[in-house]
Amino acid sequence: MPQFINVHTHNPDNEGINILNINSSAFWTEGNCLSYGIHPWDVGKIDLNAQLKFLEDLCKEKKIVAIGEIGLDRSIDTPLDEQRVILKKQLELALKYQLPVILHSVRTNYDLLTIKKQEKIDIPWIFHGFRGSVQEATQLINNQCYLSFGKALLYEEKNQHVFKNIPLDWVFFETDDSDAKIDNIYQKAAEIIPIFVDDLKEKIFSNFIKVFGVRCTKNG
Ligand SMILES: [Zn+2]
Repeated sequence: MPQFINVHTHNPDNEGINILNINSSAFWTEGNCLSYGIHPWDVGKIDLNAQLKFLEDLCKEKKIVAIGEIGLDRSIDTPLDEQRVILKKQLELALKYQLPVILHSVRTNYDLLTIKKQEKIDIPWIFHGFRGSVQEATQLINNQCYLSFGKALLYEEKNQHVFKNIPLDWVFFETDDSDAKIDNIYQKAAEIIPIFVDDLKEKIFSNFIKVFGVRCTKNG
């Protein structure tokens, strides 16, 4: 039976296969299924060249399975243009090393989609913690973006409604930095559709293999 897939978490002690996200070289740890990226919140606060070099080394040495979380955020003081420069550099690396990206987006789905179209970036994009509308979800999916649903799916009616109205081919689940359990999120998602949890696990696992290959499944 396929395992639970937690496509974005900051907590190493979860059930199933987890993509553990690390946001700073200061917290680097070895693992078989890690993502690393420069978060828009850190733009202007860290030595970007040093962090980019660190990131490229991780890509080269195949120490990460995805670049993330990276993206854009309209709710912070750092100008979007500044955030965009560092995002684009990381997208170039993702393309060069053929790695999926995990995206942080706060009111910037349209801006991100514009970059994806302009740069013709042909690698999997996963919008993590998706909380947008059905319309936004559909637009992203039509442009081959995956959407990852987290804790909000447990209690937010709007999020549940959006989830119910999109194809499972483009879905992942995550716990992010919350204390939610991945099996509870699967359980809730299965109820909403409705579908058996085992069938849902099967489906999400096949999405996972499509995006990440067998990179994470060894000790998972
Ligand atoms: Zn996160």
